[in-house]
Amino acid sequence: MSRLGLWRRLAAAWLVDRRQFRFASLARTCPICGYHGMFVHVGHPPRWAARCPGCGSRERHRLLHLWASQDGGDRLAGKRILHFAPEKIVMRQMRGNPLYETADLMQPGVTHRVDFCNVPLPDASYDVVMAHHVLEHIPDDGQAMREMFRLLKPGGIALLSVPINPTRHATHERDGVEGDAARWAHFGQHDHVRYYGMDFDDRLRAVGFVVEAFRLGPDDEVRYGLLRDEWITVAVKPSAHETAAFLARRSSGASDGDLGRFVANAPDVPPVPGDEIPR
Ligand SMILES: [Zn+2]
Repeated sequence: MSRLGLWRRLAAAWLVDRRQFRFASLARTCPICGYHGMFVHVGHPPRWAARCPGCGSRERHRLLHLWASQDGGDRLAGKRILHFAPEKIVMRQMRGNPLYETADLMQPGVTHRVDFCNVPLPDASYDVVMAHHVLEHIPDDGQAMREMFRLLKPGGIALLSVPINPTRHATHERDGVEGDAARWAHFGQHDHVRYYGMDFDDRLRAVGFVVEAFRLGPDDEVRYGLLRDEWITVAVKPSAHETAAFLARRSSGASDGDLGRFVANAPDVPPVPGDEIPR
């Protein structure tokens, strides 16, 4: 945590909307940099108490860190990671890690300048792929999910987050929503092509993932300044044996609903399987 960065972010917040210093100033704790104090706004209109002024992290970065550091360890240590559309805060945290690679079509400074839907990298080469707030921008999100599945080793995991409307089951997407204004109105942002519903998990299951959710309880959501309507989707690529059984069940028309689980609280989240195949 840099002192200069801290004061710069606090001053910027004061200039943009000083009401947050009166109404949203409950002290929060950042699990990434250790800062304890008021968090500042993000975005327009402002979402208060969202950004840690110490390190610049937003809610989902802190939740990702809390997932990785459960039980006092580091679940990302020693893992080969491919991060799509990487956020600066995560790139900073991972600096110097030779197992961390990044990918994007436009973003400067990434390891691989590639299209998410057509990644020219070998099958089963990563332990972890990450994509936060990316899939809602991609017209063929199913193809991006298949690419993630292909790139992962058996037992590997995709860490994903997308905006989800938890009050609807079905994702809202359709042809004919064109132009910035219509996409804002329908999908919440000018460059989103859909608004996911709770069937987001079903889309991942359809390409073979086993899907879990990671979130914390209400007290921790307040303590760490997390969103109450967003979680990290943990999509596990089953072992070759489990995948074969899954495909056989699906081709026989059996329901695959038993493969997925929704876990509401962190202490109940079962351990993510380790590598099934030695690297
Ligand atoms: Zn911080």
